[in-house]
Amino acid sequence: MNKSLETQRMEKIVSLCKRRGFIFQSSEIYGGLNGCWDYGPLGVELKRNLKNYWWRVMVHERENIVGMDGSILMNRAVWKASGHEDTFTDPMVDCRSCKARLRADQVIDKKGIQQCPNCGGKDLTAPRAFNLMFKTFVGATEDESSVTYLRPETAQSIFVQFKNVLEVSRKKLPFGIAQIGKAFRNEINPRNFTFRSREFEQMELEYFCREEEGIKWLDYWLEERLKFYENIGISRAKLHAHEIPDEERAFYSKGTYDIEYDFPFGRQELEGVAYRTDYDLQQHIKASGKPLDYFDEETKQRFVPHVVEPSAGVDRTVLALICEAYDEDTAPDEKGKLETRVVLRFHPRMAPIKCSVLPLLKNNEQLVAKAKEIGDLLRPHMNVFYDETGAIGRRYRRQDEIGTPFAVTVDFETLGEKDRALQDTVTLRDRDSMKQERVRITELVSILTSRVC
Ligand code: ATP
Repeated sequence: MNKSLETQRMEKIVSLCKRRGFIFQSSEIYGGLNGCWDYGPLGVELKRNLKNYWWRVMVHERENIVGMDGSILMNRAVWKASGHEDTFTDPMVDCRSCKARLRADQVIDKKGIQQCPNCGGKDLTAPRAFNLMFKTFVGATEDESSVTYLRPETAQSIFVQFKNVLEVSRKKLPFGIAQIGKAFRNEINPRNFTFRSREFEQMELEYFCREEEGIKWLDYWLEERLKFYENIGISRAKLHAHEIPDEERAFYSKGTYDIEYDFPFGRQELEGVAYRTDYDLQQHIKASGKPLDYFDEETKQRFVPHVVEPSAGVDRTVLALICEAYDEDTAPDEKGKLETRVVLRFHPRMAPIKCSVLPLLKNNEQLVAKAKEIGDLLRPHMNVFYDETGAIGRRYRRQDEIGTPFAVTVDFETLGEKDRALQDTVTLRDRDSMKQERVRITELVSILTSRVC
């Protein structure tokens, strides 16, 4: 059977991620652990750029949003109150023929007959609820009294610390608390590379407001979040705001959108933007008996704020960035013959390496010394990569394949050998156009920082 172009594209992306050190299977030498991934030297830079940019635009650039960093393990009472212990479940079905364990929504319905998507078997169990939280024990005794869970979302620590953060930050409504951190879900079927993992990271904002302004802020955050994805290089045409219909929404939500992206394996959720009303704070007020409310100095009223939550996945966004960036075009090789070029067209802001520094020849001491000097000049400002091995064209290709937007080449003109006027200038190559411009070394920092920030 011919694989679809999109399947082939996804296979190339997965293979590039491993080959170039973006993403590896966790515990690979022991056969891996399903649903867990390790980020290699380039993956960790990409992920960090994404998280830093999120933090910059969501926290630092906003006067009324502060951050926090909660623990992964929390008192079990949190998960009882939030409803996760009883209802954070997916319906699960077993295929008795091939023993596959399936999410009920994966079962194929052929003219009213339910079939296993793996083997086509029709002998399936009835769906039963499977709790997605990882259970663990705190302390030395493994009994009911020591049970808790790895957090399945970061949001709950924000809700339970609402009062503390409000007091220390002295913010007035509307204001937000942001957090980036790990979350864990024992997904029935991890799949589509890192898209559905068992360990992942979330970037969440809880934006507290007055009830009468809930819908206004929901619309506002939907637009802000769509703009965010465009600003990291994801085309608007591949982003979709899907409004969740009343019957599918959580009962406490008065409006929810999924921001979806056209991955090679289909249109899938990147982020949820939900107006959660005052449900979470009220649940914790009831269960803890503590007053998680807000006092309005002007009206002298005390009330429980409502909340709008944009909740994004770091790993899913990293995957979307790689899928969006992956491209193949043609470029001339050393002899001028056209060859296929693999290029990751990352937005410079997201690119793991911003600039490569290349001496034209490896065996010329002066070229090498000058190039190393330029590497040291740039390093405090951005992540650079020094490379002296192989023909210059090959070195450009290696950088194109990992999405480095700029390359600085030190040649004989830099040394002033051909034309005194060109001494202390270098070529600056652009990854996408492959065009080169000649710039002064003294201008490099300001030119590059203005293009990569
Ligand atoms: P899905 O319907 O795909 O399971 P969800 O609606 O349960 O996702 P939320 O609870 O809204 O997801 O979590 C917010 C965000 O966290 C998601 O939009 C996604 O980016 C990320 N996320 C959730 N589950 C996973 C997972 N298993 N792997 C990677 N990221 C995830």
